[in-house]
Amino acid sequence: MFPDKIYYEPNALSYELGKSLKEKYADKPWIPIQSHNNIDELRKNQNKEFSRMKQHLIVGIRKTHKFVPNCKVSDYLVPFTSSGCSAICLYCYLVCNYNKCSYLRVFVNREQMMHKIIKTANLSENELTFEIGSNSDLILENTVTDNLSWTVETFAKNGRGFLTFPTKFDMVDPIIPLEHKGRVIFRMSVNPQRIINRVEFGTSPLKNRIAALNKVCEADYKAGLLIAPIVLTENWKEDYTKLFEQLADELTEKTKKQIFIEIIFMTYSYIHRAINNEAFPKAVELYDKEKMTVRGRGKYTYKTNVREECEAFLRGLIVAKLPGVPILYVV
Ligand code: SF4
Repeated sequence: MFPDKIYYEPNALSYELGKSLKEKYADKPWIPIQSHNNIDELRKNQNKEFSRMKQHLIVGIRKTHKFVPNCKVSDYLVPFTSSGCSAICLYCYLVCNYNKCSYLRVFVNREQMMHKIIKTANLSENELTFEIGSNSDLILENTVTDNLSWTVETFAKNGRGFLTFPTKFDMVDPIIPLEHKGRVIFRMSVNPQRIINRVEFGTSPLKNRIAALNKVCEADYKAGLLIAPIVLTENWKEDYTKLFEQLADELTEKTKKQIFIEIIFMTYSYIHRAINNEAFPKAVELYDKEKMTVRGRGKYTYKTNVREECEAFLRGLIVAKLPGVPILYVV
């Protein structure tokens, strides 16, 4: 049962959230650490320990609060209340940053992070959008900390700017009744169920994600649908056709009117290959030398002609199955 043990910075226990986590997980082993960024005994683990390490929870204080300008659905990527995640997607972008230490870390100083977001929102002439979920999955984190519920209501009261985050989880009930005042943009990330089964271990099933998106739209949140990342296995045309058929059948009319679509192709890397080959030797091999090319330091992306073919195919599917839903970008 997650978490199997908790590594914590002792100072974190002087914060409200630190205290409540200590109470919530009183029956688990708590192991003091100097810094959430460098837990020696975990860093030295072998790659094959990856799955077991994902069962750990790290509790710390976030020290870096640098906003990174962005130009997709937000103005800034904001380091927020967690990084890492207890699920295991074989392509997870966080592995590039944290390597095998991409377990869930939660940060107890949420007031400090929120203060900076609100101050930046209020100093700007334009209404800014802050991406708060680029380092973790906040719907999943919320089951541990309840931070997202607090975040939605606290930010909405300010009345300026927008928050946005993506998720692959269906545990949206805690945010449904909240006073969000239209200030939160929820983005559900989906993939064909066959990809979820083979590649996105521990995330919610497609059917539940679609139902969660419907609930959020029913509660009048602004919302989007992320088709991400596109994973081109041997059956990709069949898989993505089924995905859009299911979306057409199961998204409500209200949801279809409210959402926009983002499409992101998978990026893979040497680091992913090294970890996945050792930790999950029987899993599907996501590196495909016929379809991929090396781009940047140790990264693989799909070749231009492969992407173009897939993009045209997906655009056709969207016109046919979700007519009128705008595509914000394809990357
Ligand atoms: S749910 Fe998101 S953060 Fe968690 S492993 Fe998958 S891609 Fe990474």
